[in-house]
Amino acid sequence: MNKPFKTSRFFTFEDHESNARGYCRSFEKVFVKAKGSSVWDEEGNRYIDFLSCCGALNYGHNDEHMKAGLIDHISRDGIASGLDLYTDVKRDFIDAFYRLVLAPRNLDYKLQFTGPTGANAVEAALKLARKVTKRTNVITFTNGFHGVTSGALAATGNRYNRMAPSIPLTGVTRLPYDGYMGDGISAADLYVKMLEDPSGGIDPPAAVIFETVQGEGGLNIASAGWCQRIVAAAHRAGALVIVDDIQAGCGRTGTFFSFETLGFTPDIVTLSKSLSGFGLPMSLVLIAPEYDVWSPAEHNGTFRGNSHAFVTARIALEKYWGGSGFEEAIAVKAEIVTNALTETARNLPQARLKGRGLMQGLDVGTRALASAISKRCFDQRLIIETAGPYDEVIKVLCPLTIEVDQLEEGLGIVRNAALELSGELSFA
Ligand SMILES: *Cc1c(COP(=O)(O)O)cnc(C)c1O
Repeated sequence: MNKPFKTSRFFTFEDHESNARGYCRSFEKVFVKAKGSSVWDEEGNRYIDFLSCCGALNYGHNDEHMKAGLIDHISRDGIASGLDLYTDVKRDFIDAFYRLVLAPRNLDYKLQFTGPTGANAVEAALKLARKVTKRTNVITFTNGFHGVTSGALAATGNRYNRMAPSIPLTGVTRLPYDGYMGDGISAADLYVKMLEDPSGGIDPPAAVIFETVQGEGGLNIASAGWCQRIVAAAHRAGALVIVDDIQAGCGRTGTFFSFETLGFTPDIVTLSKSLSGFGLPMSLVLIAPEYDVWSPAEHNGTFRGNSHAFVTARIALEKYWGGSGFEEAIAVKAEIVTNALTETARNLPQARLKGRGLMQGLDVGTRALASAISKRCFDQRLIIETAGPYDEVIKVLCPLTIEVDQLEEGLGIVRNAALELSGELSFA
């Protein structure tokens, strides 16, 4: 890639860090400090964070309680790394997850701690479904994003990611996600017909995997009706249903799991990103007990169970999901986002609202406009990224804990940037 010449403060990165680096190109500052929904650069400028590490910081940066718990754990020489040995902090996390998340929702899952990335949880989920069913084919959907290791990448739709030289990405059949075909054409009809027609050409699937809101794919949402038809047909075909809740889970859509309001229960769920609460790497696969057919250490890994993450994850559950009022607070903020984006959209000819909960955005029609808005926002000290097949969606992914003032300030920056730029670009 051609780099413009500059006498830059970023030469350490530009000279020595791989070209694979990404986000730093859009938000070119050196960041040194973060608290709540704010981030500071080296020059002392404060930014509002509408990126939240792509949903890994749902509770904001450096939460006081999690920080104190972690410091205490380290000070008392608590276990830092323990493979998958039994530890006090793992026990406390499991107990809290069961008591505060699973039991109140009448959910029954075994917990598998995989390697700490989301992709590893997806790999484990796919491998397990294939082991259970003794089949290889997996049904995935347009615009789905599940990670970039080979198995997860096969399930991912994005061509840019998929074209990175790899072994052939096989073992999946891709079908249209809800709404993909536009209004009036049911993607679920096509799916059911193709799956159930003996000559539909789809090998019997081990699993169906999807996000209920597509985080990287452009904030497309699956309706309850679509999900229920997909799930019922999957089960009729003898396939397991995997929900990838790595981005949409941990409260992002307004409830702990994104599927809680959709009228179905997955057989397997993947969680990562905000699970640790503090931005520490941690992943979890939830498995309906009858499908927990792993042999000991069959899907292993050195860093299964990050002890520091167990500490902060447990505190996050107790603090935010133990009491009441958190879901209501998310709903209030989600409505503020909907209203602000609706108003912004009114002034942009092709703009459409996307997403739900605190996972909403605006499809502004073109990559050029979306990236110009993101850049203008960054100049105005708001960090906000784009998503979607053409990067045409401005994606509001603020911490769930953001103060209303700061949320409104950030949404104002988006609105002004969109207004100014839509005017400028249409005259260009
Ligand atoms: C981020 C993400 C992944 C991959 O997680 P990594 O930690 O980047 O490997 C998988 N699925 C979804 C829905 C994601 O948003």
